[in-house]
Amino acid sequence: MQNQMQHWLDKRAALTPDRLALIDGKEELTFRELRERSQRTARKLSGLGIRQGAVVGLLCTSSADFVALVHALTYLGAILMPLNTRLTAHELSFQIEDAACMHLIYDEANGQLAEEVLGRLPQLLLIQAEGLSELQETECSLTAYIDAEAVQSIMYTSGTTGAPKGVMLTYGNHWSSAVGSVLNLGLSSTERWLAAVPLFHISGLSIIWRSVIYGMTIIIHRKFDPANANRAILEQGVTIMSVVSNMLARMLEDLGGRTYPPEFRCMLLGGGPAPRPLLESCAAKGIPVYQTYGMTETASQIVTLPPEYALSKLGSVGKPLFQAEIRIAGERGGDALPGEAGEILVRGPNVTKGYWNRPQATAEAMKGGWLATGDIGYLDEDGFLYVLDRRKDLIISGGENVYPAEIEAALLQHPAVKEAGVTGVADERWGQVPIACVVLREDAQLSEEELREYLKDKLARYKIPARFYFVNMLPRNASGKLLRRELPALAVQAEQAAEQS
Ligand code: ATP
Ligand code: MG
Repeated sequence: MQNQMQHWLDKRAALTPDRLALIDGKEELTFRELRERSQRTARKLSGLGIRQGAVVGLLCTSSADFVALVHALTYLGAILMPLNTRLTAHELSFQIEDAACMHLIYDEANGQLAEEVLGRLPQLLLIQAEGLSELQETECSLTAYIDAEAVQSIMYTSGTTGAPKGVMLTYGNHWSSAVGSVLNLGLSSTERWLAAVPLFHISGLSIIWRSVIYGMTIIIHRKFDPANANRAILEQGVTIMSVVSNMLARMLEDLGGRTYPPEFRCMLLGGGPAPRPLLESCAAKGIPVYQTYGMTETASQIVTLPPEYALSKLGSVGKPLFQAEIRIAGERGGDALPGEAGEILVRGPNVTKGYWNRPQATAEAMKGGWLATGDIGYLDEDGFLYVLDRRKDLIISGGENVYPAEIEAALLQHPAVKEAGVTGVADERWGQVPIACVVLREDAQLSEEELREYLKDKLARYKIPARFYFVNMLPRNASGKLLRRELPALAVQAEQAAEQS
């Protein structure tokens, strides 16, 4: 791609000014209107001292204003730091300080949280998003050309395996991600992408870039609700939706006997492992699920299962998108053989240059131009990727590799099991053994022996958890991801509770 490009929203508004850019409840904005609103917002933010290169935190619920604020910052050349509204003030303050962010834009819904952050970081300048409408615009020059190499956003990882790291993503990263996706999924002339994932995550932010680059409408849901999401697909002409497996499972339950209309062509499923039974139920219902693999560091998807393999390669996340490449690091150096598991390495124009303010973490992750993902997977003979688990979560029991995700998936197949989390604990004889924390469905009754018996013909003996703990809920981070590192403490608690009762 060329290094200087006409500002994306200017270009889009020139090409298709009257096309709908977004629908947020009753509010609809065309690309012309979105450009106007974004530019007005930029002039106001400029009056508040936001300049090129400044890092600006955005603590807002998904909305039309969110999208306009994202574009407004691009007009000023400021760096967007989208913040997860489910984090605590303590967690947010860490990210804000770490990124040397001086301005925090927040909306009414997150006002209290913003005040709490201010209590910790008194030098921070708070800007209320709704209050911007009353401000005067200031004369300033707005960016007309985008530099592909410039950092557009610093987005923190979910913090599933440790402290979150600020991933620097350039305009070029986002551009390549959007182009790689459309070359795989194609584009219909009436494309409508349902964004019920939060816009502050990479899965949501990437929809904003696709919208402006493709000229496609985003339907924004401020909060995910399975019935509303199904209604949008059934009645509002949604063609594509991004989901994580938990969202999809809930939508399936709500859908019941109904079927999606033919114009709904892609359920893009990512963010974590997809339980096989869920994929099978979707296949049985004719729901076009595309499994995908990616991370904040790759500006969303980097590997996606092409449509024609949805059934024959069920469980695979597919092949790398255009311009992206993957390798599996073999145990003895070099590349792993087909079927052999190893760390997944990725490379491509959508991959981050590194972590903000973390030279060491960057150096550890970047190996000869490849990013080591920390995930383990393998390629089959046809080059399709299967993701097994995170490297940090791998259990080595009696010299055998045990993947918690595989055991969790087997547990989840039991109709009485609602959630399952598996981790390794030290064991004198085997080095490590897996243990499982299980949440049962309401009113379900199940004993440890029954579960053990159930797993017997599904898993090799060394993979069957040494102990099972029945708990009320599993530890998850603000993105809803399972925190396996907290399971041992939860198991101890459950044990103590069982002894007392
Ligand atoms: P942190 O890096 O702070 O520990 P995180 O890795 O959870 O947090 P994200 O960037 O939000 O932060 O998530 C990306 C990760 O999600 C991937 O590295 C991978 O472990 C997991 N993931 C994404 N897609 C899939 C998939 N299809 N199957 C299995 N795991 C997936
Ligand atoms: Mg990660």
